[in-house]
Amino acid sequence: MSVEYSSITCKTALSTSKLPGLRYSLNPYTGCEHGCVYCYSPSVLGNREFALKWGSFVKAKRNLPEVLGRELNRKPRGVVGVSTVTDPYQPAEAKLELTRQCLELLSRRDFPVSIQTKSSLVLRDADLIKQGSFDVGVTITTMDRELAEKIEPRASPPDARASALEGLSSRGVETWVFLGPLIPEVNDGKESIRRVVEVAKRTGSKLIYDKLNLKRWVPERLTPILDRERPGLAERLPARISQRGGRWRATCSTVEVICRELGVRCEPAFPSWPSAA
Ligand code: SF4
Repeated sequence: MSVEYSSITCKTALSTSKLPGLRYSLNPYTGCEHGCVYCYSPSVLGNREFALKWGSFVKAKRNLPEVLGRELNRKPRGVVGVSTVTDPYQPAEAKLELTRQCLELLSRRDFPVSIQTKSSLVLRDADLIKQGSFDVGVTITTMDRELAEKIEPRASPPDARASALEGLSSRGVETWVFLGPLIPEVNDGKESIRRVVEVAKRTGSKLIYDKLNLKRWVPERLTPILDRERPGLAERLPARISQRGGRWRATCSTVEVICRELGVRCEPAFPSWPSAA
């Protein structure tokens, strides 16, 4: 799939976030080249057109560092999530360095930052990632490279993500593994989960896990891929991920048991969901 790159201007840099642990979110790009098949960012952005072509466009917010610099003069300190509806280290960042410029500003003003990515490019900014006030989460849904290529086609391969975590944790950075979404019959098997928890163990990372979220327009993008790879699963998914159903509870229990065995701290992404502990 070809990717269309463009640049835009933005009026706001820091948006108020309702995500646990974050006061603000900062998204240097609109769109995400990683193109994960389960991504619900278009739904959060409320844009059906984006949903239909997600993964094939990237709009870089070229004046973001300028706008952020002004906002940091007047906004109260609080944790900034980088990023929440895009990947701050998608391929375009290697050249554009928008994320890097924003991290420099945030670091200078002493704002705490929580980074989340699926790219090993995050290691480039190890010099800026301050111990104590920055943490870095790397999403690893599976250690199976072939499966990752199917569901997260242009993100870094899982072993490269694991190496990035190793590189950061060896420099004393607080790291976490985001194991999500856990998709029934795709990556929620015990062995698959164990391999990801082992990465968390090896890197001294906490593990946060999350279920599949079938928000608006996600089924439209996910169903054709599932029909090809796992015929019949798309129809079963809503029941499989239901909060009342046993499958999700069993998956929570599997994650928590393995984490306990390996001595890894873990928690669900959204604490209101029933914990199996
Ligand atoms: S990396 Fe994140 S924002 Fe980008 S497509 Fe994947 S889930 Fe969506």
